[in-house]
Amino acid sequence: MTDTSPFIQWPPSLLPAEEDALTLLATTYALSHGLLYLPVPTSQPVPPAPPSAIHAPLTILPTPFPRHLFERVQRVQRVYSVLYARIAQDIPFLDRIMGEEGVAKVDDFVGPLWRGWKQLRDEGMAQPLQLGIYRSDYMLHAPPGSTDAISIKQVEFNTISSSFGSLSQLAAAMHRYMYASTQFFNTSKYFQSSNFPLNETTPGIARGIAEAHKAYSVKEAFVLFVVQEGERNVFDQRMIEYELLEKHSIHVVRLTFDETAERSVLDPTTKALKVKTDPYPDPIEISVVYYRAGYTPRDYPTPAQFATRVHIERSRAIKCPSIALQLAGGKKVQETLTHPGVLESFLLDRDRWGEEHVFDQADVDAVRETWVGMWGLDFNGNEGVRKAREGAAGLVLKPQREGGGNNVYTSDIPAFLDTLDLREREAWIAMEMILPPQDVQNYLMRAGMGERAILTDVVSELGIFGWALFGEGGQEKSRVKEQDAGWLLRTKGRDSNEGGVATGFSVLDSLLLV
Ligand code: ADP
Ligand code: MG
Ligand code: MG
Repeated sequence: MTDTSPFIQWPPSLLPAEEDALTLLATTYALSHGLLYLPVPTSQPVPPAPPSAIHAPLTILPTPFPRHLFERVQRVQRVYSVLYARIAQDIPFLDRIMGEEGVAKVDDFVGPLWRGWKQLRDEGMAQPLQLGIYRSDYMLHAPPGSTDAISIKQVEFNTISSSFGSLSQLAAAMHRYMYASTQFFNTSKYFQSSNFPLNETTPGIARGIAEAHKAYSVKEAFVLFVVQEGERNVFDQRMIEYELLEKHSIHVVRLTFDETAERSVLDPTTKALKVKTDPYPDPIEISVVYYRAGYTPRDYPTPAQFATRVHIERSRAIKCPSIALQLAGGKKVQETLTHPGVLESFLLDRDRWGEEHVFDQADVDAVRETWVGMWGLDFNGNEGVRKAREGAAGLVLKPQREGGGNNVYTSDIPAFLDTLDLREREAWIAMEMILPPQDVQNYLMRAGMGERAILTDVVSELGIFGWALFGEGGQEKSRVKEQDAGWLLRTKGRDSNEGGVATGFSVLDSLLLV
């Protein structure tokens, strides 16, 4: 397709019998291959070994996506990976935006995280290396009535608990299998094997963790997954654990914050993090801490969990992410990057960042091209709020939170602004709405909603995974080891503003490149 053509209409028409056949193929593939969720628990306490699972919510068809835009954001991922590594190492920048003079002052989640990090910096950090497993999220942008070419715009850049890698690989494999099995009944000329891109997220993410483990240089150490109690998206995490053991001979231990507090100690001299885990008589050293928790205030119901986070951060284990890298992923940082000269200072200042990764103006432009307009609500006195009130119909407001369900959209904005006091403005950004193409529908299937998928208007969000290991010797100029790690396509009903699979609004999908 060319840049200027309207986006293709989707889906092709399926007979009811074809729809039923594809629904059966999709759900049974999902159940056979671990494209699964734990069901909502029906009794308390939840049994430690789950007796059953349900298929993850999914689409019956892949969703068309412009090939050149997919390839564009794949190419730009390397720049983003180095960019966020540099942000995480720029302490004065993070202090200014997320520290006591910025968000930490007014936000009771960012505040304790930043203060914990500050305290550890004053003590002296035991581990300069940091691991990021990133997911840069995008939507297609095709404003109705505009003659501009369809484009792709970034929603956000995740630096902590970037999830659905493994399930996304399985969703892509499921659609590829359905094509191999039925050619989707030849209902569209776009169904061709070359239009189903490979998706190898699980090996990619595991490779990032394995690189960090190797850099830690204690072969028999374990990787710690810090997880949420009652997590239903466990299979997505387990696939990474299996890959680490099978392909890299690395063992994983899974603990919540509270379990970590109970079972771990720091070696007073080496700062090694050691965890008591059955059946081993002695505590096991931890090489890498991979957080699949800790991104939301709900994971820190009391000061004890913040203390555990700081206890882990104090250790010599490599954190994925460090507190610094988690703070770098804040929406306020995303917004600050759009200020004049900021991106240039991170990408083009060779005196500061050295010659290991050299970028030019074209890289700066490629990153900037993925942005929509953003500003802080504290911008220029009352200006930020005034602009947000005036432009509300085309905006979304975001606080410094992750995991979905925190934003305020369009017509809700004016009333919300009335409730926001002067102080709180500092923790919120305004962002232009990305407007995905209309006339795209797909069949959404959720376990337990009856045997039929629902055909509905949809919008999709593409996530590009990558990892980066950086900070060797505490040197900003040292090399950032980084690699791509596949992608995620999530699709939601058009009437739902939010897109989290875990929060129940969206389903796993895959790309059909057109
Ligand atoms: P979180 O870190 O909580 O996932 P996001 O920035 O991803 O926060 O916002 C949550 C959801 O809100 C996104 O998945 C997307 O569906 C929607 N959203 C966020 N920003 C925009 C935007 N600029 N335009 C349209 N939808 C958006
Ligand atoms: Mg996020
Ligand atoms: Mg998001």
